[in-house]
Amino acid sequence: MKARISRRQFFRNTAGTAAVVASAVATASPEVHPPGLRGSTRVQQIATNCEMCFWRCGVMAEVADGKLLKLQGNPHHPMTKGKLCARGNAGVALLNDPDRLKYPQIRIGERGEGKFKRVSWDEALDFLATRLKDLKQKYGPESIAVFPHGVHSGFFSTLMKAYGTPNSAEPAFAQCRGPRDIGYQLTFGRPVNSPEPVDLEESKCIVLIGSHIGENVFTSQVTAFAEGMAKGAKLIVVDPRFSTAASKAHHWLPIKPGTDTALLLAWMNVLITEELYDKQYLDQYALGFKELAEHVKDFTPAWAAPITEISAAQIFDTAHLMANSRPAVAIHPGRHVSWYGNDTQRARAMAILTALLGAYGRKGGIFLPTKLPQGRIALPPMPETEKPRADRVGDAFPLATEEAHGLTQGLVESTLTQNPYPIKGWIVYGQNILESIPTRQKTLEAIKKLEFLAVVDVLPMEQTRYADLVLPEATYLERYDPPAIVTTSKRPYVAIRQPVVEPMYESKPGWWVAKEAAKRMGLTDYFPWSDPTDHLRRLIAPLQIDEQELMALGAVSFDGKPYIEDRTENDGPLFPTQSGRIELVSSVLRDLKLDALPKYEPIESPPAGFLRLIYGRSPVQSFSRTENNSWLDDLMSENPIWISSRVARASNLVNGQKVVLQNQDGVRSPVITLCVTPGMRDDVAYTVHGFGSQSPALKKAYHHGFSDTALMTRVAIDPIMGATGMRVNFVRVIPAENV
Ligand code: SF4
Repeated sequence: MKARISRRQFFRNTAGTAAVVASAVATASPEVHPPGLRGSTRVQQIATNCEMCFWRCGVMAEVADGKLLKLQGNPHHPMTKGKLCARGNAGVALLNDPDRLKYPQIRIGERGEGKFKRVSWDEALDFLATRLKDLKQKYGPESIAVFPHGVHSGFFSTLMKAYGTPNSAEPAFAQCRGPRDIGYQLTFGRPVNSPEPVDLEESKCIVLIGSHIGENVFTSQVTAFAEGMAKGAKLIVVDPRFSTAASKAHHWLPIKPGTDTALLLAWMNVLITEELYDKQYLDQYALGFKELAEHVKDFTPAWAAPITEISAAQIFDTAHLMANSRPAVAIHPGRHVSWYGNDTQRARAMAILTALLGAYGRKGGIFLPTKLPQGRIALPPMPETEKPRADRVGDAFPLATEEAHGLTQGLVESTLTQNPYPIKGWIVYGQNILESIPTRQKTLEAIKKLEFLAVVDVLPMEQTRYADLVLPEATYLERYDPPAIVTTSKRPYVAIRQPVVEPMYESKPGWWVAKEAAKRMGLTDYFPWSDPTDHLRRLIAPLQIDEQELMALGAVSFDGKPYIEDRTENDGPLFPTQSGRIELVSSVLRDLKLDALPKYEPIESPPAGFLRLIYGRSPVQSFSRTENNSWLDDLMSENPIWISSRVARASNLVNGQKVVLQNQDGVRSPVITLCVTPGMRDDVAYTVHGFGSQSPALKKAYHHGFSDTALMTRVAIDPIMGATGMRVNFVRVIPAENV
């Protein structure tokens, strides 16, 4: 009982975090791009924001005669300041992608055969409403699960919640940043959120643990990183691979995978035993120091060296470098952090180290969010659901929550087993679930159990061919989306997404699809706004900004309060934990009878002849989301597998050779290209995630490269919040001619 109360308290605190109201509206430059003439053509500039990844950089679209000419960075955007990456520029090719879903379709062939008939929107939406009603009558509303993703996901979640199902989950939590957000929330009282509030440009020492900034490109983050480095920041990179960031590092620590928590504990040991921590900061803001000191006293660099395979001297040196730079030490919390199944505790260790350095809420460390007042759109009460969630949120995984987007793999599992009750219908919106959720064979098997699968997307992603109903969505350049109200920027801001051209073909915006479906399902009251501009107006009403100016500039920013010294009592608690202090020892975890301080737990090493499969990002692709883009395909059309030159030599493999990967369960990749580098540990194989599409309808992406997800036939589950650790799969590299 006590544990339950603690958990509720924990999330009540979440809702109450960062109660800081922007003090003054300070708009961006009043200059608005006027329409102009280019030759005899009138060219308009329309502000919006990018969706080639989730960073939402500000875009200025040049449009003439209703046609998009090009996309440029929006100089008025307070965070991205006129910068776009390669993918951002290539949005033009997404708009004009010949493989786009063009009209609604209903399946006529066998499931998976890819045979559909074209239907009208009326027919498609009637079909959707009828099938959902049938399932509700036969099995109850909870028999439908939703897998939404992206900024429109709220509309589909609202629709289905109003319909009566509790089952909705997004991969952003269990397959990505959930462990990090829970770990930081347990420690500081608030999750990290996105964009990550890391003060890279003011830092004196940047610490990247598995974050490969530079290959992982989010424009403002890369810019801030480069600024910090140009101003003299020292850089520590912990990565089994000599990444682009590692090539700039003062210390590259090629750590044995899965041992990061041991390194973090050893760093804490040095800071505490040598009294290099920020005593005044901890005295003022933290609880549990004595217990922490006792906990780490044996975790010396000499203890950690054989575990991490980093020398004790380098552990000492890097601990001293951080101590000498404090509090301006930016330990990046990472983004995709569901690696080994003990990831929340690793995030806790990173948060505790940040606290020891006095770097949370301080210049050059992790800055504080500044809350913006946001309008609420009152909805009727949601129906009480009689059945619990099927993904075991809050039950088996106490700190997984519905608010935190649920557990996708839990919904897959319950569909497979039809336990705790039948799940017979899925709605997938805006993502490729066969790539974003590991153990894809299970996902495919679960799809076979369905009586109804509806897919809403821009492109025919892999699950589309198994769908009963396919609904074509307009691209981000053809639609309104809810505004980005961003608090984790030093200047918080509101940015809009608005159409720069009319939707092509018969595609429709996600908001329209959800609202029209609601009409047919008797749920109109849950969409009490007339159109997206009405929706926008209501959300931004308390900010009292000039709507015309917002639409013209694309974004409006406000004064922020990023550092502790900016805050007053009126700004709410600095650390909205249960205790109101930084919790070095977590009271929530203790109440739940879980480890209140992080421990190092060894993970399984690769068997002889196998390498651990690790993966990351490319600066020119956003996983399977962009791989059909003709401009980006020209830049990178496949993902080779990288191994160390020592391993290659020992196995008589050479750079550029064609190989096949076989994982520990005998699952094989297609024939792929091997790349060999001295900049890699001997126990890992590395690739870029998201390639190897199995959708023949994606003519560029189909069978380009290989799917790392297909080789993830097992996962390690985080006991605290249910994340699927995916770096627990091993591969053998086999010359293609031997297969
Ligand atoms: S980082 Fe690139 S792809 Fe992502 S939003 Fe910005 S411009 Fe678009």
